[in-house]
Amino acid sequence: MTEQKCSRAGCSELRTNLVIWRNPQIHKDGRTKSWGSCDLHLDYLVDYLNQRKFFLESQPIAKEA
Ligand SMILES: [Zn+2]
Repeated sequence: MTEQKCSRAGCSELRTNLVIWRNPQIHKDGRTKSWGSCDLHLDYLVDYLNQRKFFLESQPIAKEA
């Protein structure tokens, strides 16, 4: 099982969103990375990636019971 936690350092909330990004200098073959984010840190992580032009998309994660 994978960790379902927010990717923001120091945050231990469950992730509720998936943030998809790519660093063109590292991911030359078109692979992407994904971070998990809680609602509180979604804007922060998107903004962080946008500033570096790494951001691709975000999507809400459906809650699994
Ligand atoms: Zn968080």
